[in-house]
Amino acid sequence: MEKTEKLSHAITELDNLMDYYEAVLRKRFPFTPKNRDFSSVARTLAAPAPEPEVEETPQEDFSGLDMKRLQFAVQNCTRCQLCKTRTNTVFGEGCTYKPLVMVIGEGPGEKEDLSGRPFVGPAGEFLDKWLAAIGLSRDTNTYIANIVKCRPPQNRDPMDEEKDACKAFLYQQIALVMPKAILCVGKPASMLMTGKTDATMASLRQKLFLYDYSIPMICTYHPAAVLRNLEWKAPVWEDLKKLRSIIFPPVRG
Ligand code: SF4
Repeated sequence: MEKTEKLSHAITELDNLMDYYEAVLRKRFPFTPKNRDFSSVARTLAAPAPEPEVEETPQEDFSGLDMKRLQFAVQNCTRCQLCKTRTNTVFGEGCTYKPLVMVIGEGPGEKEDLSGRPFVGPAGEFLDKWLAAIGLSRDTNTYIANIVKCRPPQNRDPMDEEKDACKAFLYQQIALVMPKAILCVGKPASMLMTGKTDATMASLRQKLFLYDYSIPMICTYHPAAVLRNLEWKAPVWEDLKKLRSIIFPPVRG
């Protein structure tokens, strides 16, 4: 039986009951009852039940997790919509304890999504050349990760809500890895890590930042962007030399 039909039956029964008591009472106390109007009661009862309040997904705290557990949490993460379209999560790779540099990019592309590894393909090979030019390698002294661990469709920039959902993983990675310096590549990573959301890449790469008041951090262009704009090779080389002077400070004799 439909809800409104049940309600109509209940009101009819109530009405009949009221008729009965009125008749009983009228014999002893004559009075003229007002017309009974159950419409407001019926409207209240027939109104759909309010939707239960949806609790906001709590910001989980990953600060107690070691690298293995953190990676497991990422692999099973559904905190943002990117989980629906990913093939693999891309956690990070390289030297996981006190590397000279941690490189932070924006997110996996197609090849990274398929392989589960950061910075593979032409942009990754280009990045490896940059690193090698200043004595760095992901095989020995460099760690590489992204601000989001799942591929944004069509390689678009990660959205704010995706970065917000994922950044706790990155912050815990940095805390565990303890790099000597951080190199942010590309605007999304540079903006998230510096907190300068309206700055240009040209202005960000001119400055030296401190992550968590302690780790020197510089920003430069993303290797994929430099492959499309070769005139940015010179400024990138300037940035790499600055990074080299931080991690290998000149010995004063
Ligand atoms: Fe989770 Fe990050 Fe992947 Fe979003 S991008 S589903 S927050 S791991």
